[in-house]
Amino acid sequence: MLQPSPEQTELALELKEAFNVLSPFIEKHTAIVCPDCQDICCKDRHGRYDSSDLFFLGALGLDVPPDDQDRDPDGSCRHITDKGCFLERWMRPFRCTHFFCAVLLKSLENENAKLYRTFVDYLQYLVHTREKLLKASQSA
Ligand code: SF4
Ligand code: SF4
Repeated sequence: MLQPSPEQTELALELKEAFNVLSPFIEKHTAIVCPDCQDICCKDRHGRYDSSDLFFLGALGLDVPPDDQDRDPDGSCRHITDKGCFLERWMRPFRCTHFFCAVLLKSLENENAKLYRTFVDYLQYLVHTREKLLKASQSA
């Protein structure tokens, strides 16, 4: 990948920080609902990076190994262990943070209303920062 511009690096760092801020709140709720799940969403196809994920990780200097296309897309994700995902949230594909199944969403919504509103606002900030980064990538 080309050397990221200072603007791209700054946006990538902002985005990484946004993932880090949001993660504990999401994980508080995945810890409640996921252990009883009968249809775990962590399929291998969901653990694959798309070009936007790769741009973000590349801007942070992370070298992602080539995709292993031989894996069963509907099998367990390559990043899962019996203790859950072994990647820090910012290193996961974006969809892993942006997907909320109905059960998880209900659990989040049942939180303290102020906390939930703060979460929604911050998630919007994360999405907006990612959009800015991707826009900046088009001028790369
Ligand atoms: S997020 Fe939802 S679908 Fe995915 S493992 Fe947890 S409960 Fe299951
Ligand atoms: S959260 Fe982790 S284990 Fe689950 S699909 Fe995403 S990368 Fe894979």
